[in-house]
Amino acid sequence: MSDSLPPEATGLLTVDLAALATNWKSLQKRAGGADCAAVVKADAYGVGLEQAAQALAKAGAETFFVATFDEAVRLRTLLPTVTIYLLNGLNPGSAESVCGIDVRPVLGSMEEIDEWEAHADASGEEAPAAIHIDTGMNRHGITLAEAEALAPRLVTEEITFTPTLVMSHLACADEPEHAQNRAQIDAFSAVIKKYPGIPASLCNSAGLLAFPEAHFDLVRPGIALYGGRALNAGENPMQPVVKLQARIVTIRDAKAGTSVGYGARLHLRRDSRLAVISAGYADGIFRAAGSSDNKKGAEAIVAGIRCPLAGRISMDLIAIDVTDVPADKISRGDLVTLLGDGISVDDLASHARTIGYEVLTSLGRRWKRIYHE
Ligand SMILES: *Cc1c(COP(=O)(O)O)cnc(C)c1O
Repeated sequence: MSDSLPPEATGLLTVDLAALATNWKSLQKRAGGADCAAVVKADAYGVGLEQAAQALAKAGAETFFVATFDEAVRLRTLLPTVTIYLLNGLNPGSAESVCGIDVRPVLGSMEEIDEWEAHADASGEEAPAAIHIDTGMNRHGITLAEAEALAPRLVTEEITFTPTLVMSHLACADEPEHAQNRAQIDAFSAVIKKYPGIPASLCNSAGLLAFPEAHFDLVRPGIALYGGRALNAGENPMQPVVKLQARIVTIRDAKAGTSVGYGARLHLRRDSRLAVISAGYADGIFRAAGSSDNKKGAEAIVAGIRCPLAGRISMDLIAIDVTDVPADKISRGDLVTLLGDGISVDDLASHARTIGYEVLTSLGRRWKRIYHE
């Protein structure tokens, strides 16, 4: 709790690992007969790779996805036996190191496939890997034509590596009504027929929630594990995982008509009290979430009361309008809540005109991190 925070510490990031485990279990349940993997790229969406992966493995996750080799090394060191896929594929010349830590690259181009195959040939290793097929995103993955041409070579076992997964990725799953979803699901369903016996995977968090008919053998949720909103509309069924609190460094009175912060963009409409807290855009509280005379900004919870951020967000400081908080309920040194207690990652993100993913992965290194089991 806040009481155990050393007096020198300014900001507190609390990660609820029990909520993370609960979110994974509920997604596994929704996945039905499919396996539920865990996407832990970008330091587990900013919450901490080691702590998150440990909790997810304990909850039952056996397959993990990271983006980079360094993340794969960290995860392999922590969890020696789980299956790890490397989403960003093979850097040229890296096949031996990737194989060496028993990590499976997600091969996203014919060049990568050729390079992995050559490595398997030369080393005699099984060299398990995923084959990513592009079904409409133009980001990663071999084309449908390449996938059709490759498939017969798998069936005749001419290929020397071991494909353990065929996958694709939905571009618009957060908008289930978008016509591209159906087109991608249909294209993927058709192409995997050419890859019999190899497990298939299409869905991220949003796909998992929106398209039960497209779960195939493995689902790959990321954001939903961390409590973020996966679908643009409707209830977010996940539990929040991250709480952010920052300390009040000063409380001051300010006259009606005066301005607050850089650029003097917000003028006070009444005599006000301001609490200035020790957090800013360097901590991932995006500058765009501030307020001005024309724009409402994000909110914070001070002594149980929702209060608006006042003026521009600085690098290390944010002013909050606490005029409505009774004076005896608030003191210098108190913690103010920026995320949690009803303020979701997506609330903060929408005030900054971005998405919860970007808020979580931008939280910065200055928070004192606390992990609740
Ligand atoms: C990041 C990523 C995921 C997870 O996406 P979420 O929207 O966070 O659930 C799944 N698959 C691929 C290929 C990804 O890049």
